[in-house]
Amino acid sequence: MTDPRLEEIGRRVGSDWTRITDLLRDKIALGSVSAKGITGDHMRRSAEFVAEELIRVGIEAEVVQSTNRDGTPGAYEVVGSRIVDPEAPTVLLYAHHDVQPVPDPTVWDTDPFVGVERDDRLYGRGSADDGGGIAIHSGALHALGDDLKVNIRVFIEGEEEMGSPSFIPFIEAHREEFDSDLIIVADSGNWSDRIPSLTTSLRGNSDLDVTVKVLEHPVHSGQFGGPILDSNTLAAMLIASMYNDQGELEVPGLEGGQPIGGLQRDLDPDQVRSDAGVVASYRLAGTGSLASRLWTKPSASIIGFDAHPVEGSFNVLADSTRFRISLRTAPTQRPEEAQKALADFLRSHAPLGAQVEVSYGENGMGWAMDPDSRVVRDAEESMRQAFGCDPVNKGEGGSIPFIPELKRLFPRAQVLVTGPEDPQANAHSPNESISLYGLERNVIAEALLLDRLGA
Ligand SMILES: [Zn+2]
Repeated sequence: MTDPRLEEIGRRVGSDWTRITDLLRDKIALGSVSAKGITGDHMRRSAEFVAEELIRVGIEAEVVQSTNRDGTPGAYEVVGSRIVDPEAPTVLLYAHHDVQPVPDPTVWDTDPFVGVERDDRLYGRGSADDGGGIAIHSGALHALGDDLKVNIRVFIEGEEEMGSPSFIPFIEAHREEFDSDLIIVADSGNWSDRIPSLTTSLRGNSDLDVTVKVLEHPVHSGQFGGPILDSNTLAAMLIASMYNDQGELEVPGLEGGQPIGGLQRDLDPDQVRSDAGVVASYRLAGTGSLASRLWTKPSASIIGFDAHPVEGSFNVLADSTRFRISLRTAPTQRPEEAQKALADFLRSHAPLGAQVEVSYGENGMGWAMDPDSRVVRDAEESMRQAFGCDPVNKGEGGSIPFIPELKRLFPRAQVLVTGPEDPQANAHSPNESISLYGLERNVIAEALLLDRLGA
């Protein structure tokens, strides 16, 4: 038996389909690459386009330019609302209208700034990330029309791909426009084009700069090599001391957890290997589910290492070596705490008593969904209905920095992370695309969820 509400909403989305896909095509054609200048005219036009599209679906929307912390003009943000009943719950819909740059259009099979439909996918820069998010919100609002029983606030950001420099000052200046019970961030994606997902967690991150010093000045490697190890070797020994035999981080005080809400399906190691382009002989490091290793356990990567280049090197023992660790932290651990635990470990594991100095870089908090909340159950049920199968939830190894910030500023609001992407979407890469089937189901799922929240 099909649910009559599902049928009705499905019918309305079907009759609105041309508008939804036209919106996406027009959005792609705007080429709203924030890397070309957040305050550029192309970004203003992109924001104006999105505001007009929101007005078409009943939102009082406008473009507001943000201000950076130093007082300079910032991004063109789109804000809007539709208040149907002050007593009803309020939902904030988030997406971003800026897109990733296209460094080399010749590696695309189609023009990146022309929406091209092929095999049930629409290709183009920003088709998925995050034009898809805008299309989902717009389609869901249109489908509900005057049946809408929750208050809606909308925030479509103009600088997400640039790390949202003016996001926090903007929210602080517009607090009441963000105040909500639920924030739906449509900037992630599904397990596949046929299987929906909520994103359950994001890891935090923390940087540390480490200097290993052994000599007051460089000396001849023939004369002193042997009892004195060069600082590069000592740095390598220090790095290796963070790991056990399985290649797993073993640093006291670094927390690691299991996937939030339990592991519903593990990642396929062959898929992960091929997505990353791992050499055939390499064995994946760590133990436990691959999902936990990528989503909820910590990782440390050396993202910078100052050493003499091979070209032009000569017989000298390096006196000191500096490197930078990018630490990804478990979703619920405070990054400051993880940073300190790792720094303490490094300082106390100086190989052969070399001098080890650690300085602290930036921290970003992770985030974890509350898997048992009513909103999560409503969202899962809406996805189940729309896609006709159970959602398979997933975590993210990276971070979306503004989500923990929203959580900090609006502790009362729940956050749901959904989105238009799937493993074929190639967001940030050439030949970005969105599944049209997945988009239609995402629109229906969001409309059903908003409907449920108003019931
Ligand atoms: Zn995005």
